[in-house]
Amino acid sequence: METRIIKIDQINPDIKKIKIAANIIKRGGLVAFPTETVYGLGANTLNSEAVFKIFKVKNRPADNPLINHIADKEWIYKLAEKVPEEAIILAEAFWPGPLTMIFKKRKIVPDVVTAGLKTTAIRMPKNKIALNLIKYSQCPIAAPSANLSGKPSPTTADHVIHDLYKKIECIIDGGKTNIGVESTVIDLTVHPPLLLRPGGVTYEMLRDFIDIKLHPSAEAMIKFDKKPESPGMKYRHYAPKADLILVEGEIDNIIKKIQEICEENRGKKIGIIATEETKEFYGNNVRIIGSRKDIRTVAVNLFRILRDFDNEGVDLIVSEGFSTRGLGLAVMNRLRKAAKTVIRA
Ligand code: AMP
Ligand code: MG
Repeated sequence: METRIIKIDQINPDIKKIKIAANIIKRGGLVAFPTETVYGLGANTLNSEAVFKIFKVKNRPADNPLINHIADKEWIYKLAEKVPEEAIILAEAFWPGPLTMIFKKRKIVPDVVTAGLKTTAIRMPKNKIALNLIKYSQCPIAAPSANLSGKPSPTTADHVIHDLYKKIECIIDGGKTNIGVESTVIDLTVHPPLLLRPGGVTYEMLRDFIDIKLHPSAEAMIKFDKKPESPGMKYRHYAPKADLILVEGEIDNIIKKIQEICEENRGKKIGIIATEETKEFYGNNVRIIGSRKDIRTVAVNLFRILRDFDNEGVDLIVSEGFSTRGLGLAVMNRLRKAAKTVIRA
């Protein structure tokens, strides 16, 4: 299949170009598009056959549901059966933005979108390209991240091209995404609501508005032997080709432990994920993920660095861990899921 790549400015999007991509969605095709979190792979929510193709091209397990992306709040009521008061409060506070809310679904939402569940996920993204694409497609857009299943999520159009070129009709190149980790997923079908997946909107931010509990799996520390609440949680995610060792703890201990690991693995091609503050403590092949003083800089580079090390063909990746405060919880959730081994130094 020919893949059309359309470059669009995310600050001042050219509507003529957006309409080309919207027409592809209308005709039942797939379009990869930037959001403020990561790139999404979209199809018309209401077209089961189109949505089915998303699972096929990503090699996504059929029981991992998608998120409905909307550009107009009115669509909540068309897709969701019960909309609790909390949802209105949170939509007012955080939409458009990186917050996904789970509701009981209406019949109009095809089973393929929800992976057979009776609930469905809805979010209004902040990126202008995404919002206009939804608007001109005249339907909600069902989308997961635009990567091959299990790989790190794409934060540039090049990442999408790497995974999906010639497999989908269109890739919109709207530059780098500015958050770098996926949206926060909260379940509003239970009381109090549950945070299932940490993301761009933090637990602390949500608690300022509603009573909310953190699902244990949000920290990605426990193994599931029962059915997970959020189906996406049970899969190994975001994983680079090389084994990843994540070292958590006090920063001085982390540094010592990583130095030891490098010593033990002499002869292997190692890639180290460090920070502005710690880069000089290690030998070669260090990548700076960001600054320990600003976790946002870490989130934005995380998936890109995992992909860069893969392209370089390293044998082993060793990463420093971070505090789980604020956006740190989303960063650590992704790192723990990507890791083969987690060490507490
Ligand atoms: P992705 O954007 O690629 O992370 O995929 C969408 C994610 O949204 C899934 O992996 C789930 O974690 C979450 N999700 C979507 N629909 C539901 C739902 N009905 N219940 C719980 N989680 C959901
Ligand atoms: Mg994904």
